[in-house]
Amino acid sequence: MRMIKTALSVSVVSIGVLVACAQRPIATGQTTPVNTAAMQKEVNESLKAQMRESFIDSLMKQMTLEEKIGQLNLPSIGFDVTGPLLSQDVEGKIRKGIVGGVFNTYTPIAVRKLQEIAVNETRLKIPLIFGYDVIHGHRTIFPIPLGLSATWNLNTIEQTARAAALEASADGLCWTFSPMVDIARDPRWGRVSEGAGEDTYLGSRIAEAMVRGYQGKDYSSATSIMACIKHFALYGAAEAGRDYNTVDMSMQRMYNEYLPPYKAGIDAGVGSVMSSFNEINGIPATGNHWLMNDLLRKDWGFKGFVVTDYTAINEMMEHRTGNAAQVAQQAIHAPVEMDMVGELFITHLPQLVKDGKVPMSEIDNACRLILRAKWDLGLFENPYRFVDEARNKVEMMSADKLELAKQAAIESFVLLKNKNNVLPLSKDKKIAFIGPLIKDQRNLIGNWSGAGDWTKAESIWMAATKAGWAKESQYARGCNMLEDEELIKRLNEHDGRIERDAKSPQQLIDEAVALAKQSDVLVVALGETFGMSGEAASRSDIGLPSNQMDLLKALKATGKPIVLVLMNGRPLTLSWEDQNVDAILETWFAGTKAGAAIMDVLSGVANPSGKLTMTFPRNVGQIPIYYNAKHTGRPMSLTNKYSSKYLDVPNSPLYVFGHGLSYSTFNYSPIQLSAKTLSGSQRIKASVTVANTSSRDGYETVQFYVHDKIRSLTPPDKELKHFEKVFLRAGESKTISFEINRETLSFWNYDLKWVAEPGEFEIFVGPDSNTTNSSVITLQ
Ligand code: BGC
Repeated sequence: MRMIKTALSVSVVSIGVLVACAQRPIATGQTTPVNTAAMQKEVNESLKAQMRESFIDSLMKQMTLEEKIGQLNLPSIGFDVTGPLLSQDVEGKIRKGIVGGVFNTYTPIAVRKLQEIAVNETRLKIPLIFGYDVIHGHRTIFPIPLGLSATWNLNTIEQTARAAALEASADGLCWTFSPMVDIARDPRWGRVSEGAGEDTYLGSRIAEAMVRGYQGKDYSSATSIMACIKHFALYGAAEAGRDYNTVDMSMQRMYNEYLPPYKAGIDAGVGSVMSSFNEINGIPATGNHWLMNDLLRKDWGFKGFVVTDYTAINEMMEHRTGNAAQVAQQAIHAPVEMDMVGELFITHLPQLVKDGKVPMSEIDNACRLILRAKWDLGLFENPYRFVDEARNKVEMMSADKLELAKQAAIESFVLLKNKNNVLPLSKDKKIAFIGPLIKDQRNLIGNWSGAGDWTKAESIWMAATKAGWAKESQYARGCNMLEDEELIKRLNEHDGRIERDAKSPQQLIDEAVALAKQSDVLVVALGETFGMSGEAASRSDIGLPSNQMDLLKALKATGKPIVLVLMNGRPLTLSWEDQNVDAILETWFAGTKAGAAIMDVLSGVANPSGKLTMTFPRNVGQIPIYYNAKHTGRPMSLTNKYSSKYLDVPNSPLYVFGHGLSYSTFNYSPIQLSAKTLSGSQRIKASVTVANTSSRDGYETVQFYVHDKIRSLTPPDKELKHFEKVFLRAGESKTISFEINRETLSFWNYDLKWVAEPGEFEIFVGPDSNTTNSSVITLQ
């Protein structure tokens, strides 16, 4: 015991010396200044890495098998639960040295309390890591990720992640389980709300932006947090859109369409990855050696650690791949390093090692990766680095973050329809504000907003009255969010906060109709409750609830123009709405400043610029539906019975990927090409001139797509390859260019080789994925 104490005190002292050393510039002793800044940095980096490894070596020499395995244990203590198990006696386990980190605890006071136990009451005094689902903001809540993706503004997205990191790191946290980068093409899946939609290219750029935003340069700063790319892998491809369901897909689709966003996050330097709940082609991701070892570490060179999703190791028993000991063995062998909540590592690995079924090297490797992350986060240097009461007081919901929340919300809104320019509203018209979401605050901050305070969210009504657009006589609730008692009960069991008015549905409708009749234009706010999307919130019918439709139909009968403001976490089926209302503004769940942002857009103070990142189907029967589909051998033809189509609905969606209107109008020139053929390392510049043909300044997102005309692996009809969001003053024109090279035209072929095949490629540039503005180039 005494020996251990001595050894430890030596290592703790050495940390200080090593850290100080690492920060000291290195003298070269040379007269000529050959040491450039880059070289200096490299030397410093490698020295720091050496110091880290020798520190970890000496620490691990002192650790028992149980303590090493303890580092792989991640219980939850605190506020949220998302699975069937609850962690027990976490403080007791910390004391025993069998906890590596915890999640769901934040605030300086709560984090300090647990960290003190780890640092003062355990044998080796190893600090804990503190994680949390900081998904779209921490205290200041930004639009849900699907909404953020609709901004097509990587800078805005990065800034929201940065702001979240500033708040979280001042609230005791050093690790977030974000970003979720799962490509999703099935809007029945509730978790589409948490991702960036259906497109591989856009999703990859957003993954990088978010990792940069959270981690800063390399998460060594006390104002950065470590990010976590999730859910690795393919979680968004669950069959039938039912959460946690089976995933089965070809390797070619996986490589070309689903894997790139995870890879982009890894290349951006993410510190951790979360395994997904689903199986992949017959083997659960959490125990999948090909996925975790061959692909993630060997091919992609990932150096950080993998945390499982909530009890994902235990769930392998339900997947039927083994009993408790066997699934623990499969998981550590995969390898995944941190066991979230399930505790099969601490209960089974010690014996498995003793029995020779799990090699000690697997435990050592896993433990080392966790200790490295702790070192890189600066926790050995100062375990209370993120417990900063002073910063906590100034960071939370600061004015600049609230302003960012409003701007991000404005940019995330997608104007789906605007007949006769009914929007923006004119103040001299009599406006009726109708619907259960007009005065609502709770739903605005959406799902996964655990540390967000919905009572601080600004409703449409608050903003409308503040801006002088509304007074009480202009309001009618019109309907409840839901009438389905069974659904309300289920949602309320998870803090759904759905309250029904004492009035009957008919009374509510009658009041709304009476108000509508005395008004010139109706602003009707409808949608989902926040609990109707997100985890474990799949829906087989993705329309507005039937009681909300009853209200809308009654309002339609008054003949007054209707502006439908939607709040929801997924694409909805809106065929009736599209045909019958005048304007539709999709606002997702827009966060703390939702109300102000919505009023700015409705009133014309701001010009909408969001574009869809997921296709909106006409009905659920069309799902899965996505823009980059394949041509098929019998492409849709109205004159050919034996073609790929439905008898009862067109193939086209209601709103295509990339669609979104503005109060400005834009015109695109034909594409100009700097050359028609491409060979070797040449590049072709494709340019268009985009003109703002209106009298309003506005943003337009110019989208570049490519279609490979003949390919050994059947190609999609269009693939997004580049985009640029440009600001154009009224009447202004700008030329937007994109350089195409071999890389742009490459793909993973049947043998999973990254190749470009010679031949013709069609280049499309336009305002959405439906564009026909195209030109052809040839790759030699
Ligand atoms: C979710 C993850 C989340 C984790 C921790 C799980 O149920 O799938 O996305 O990070 O819980 O809260």
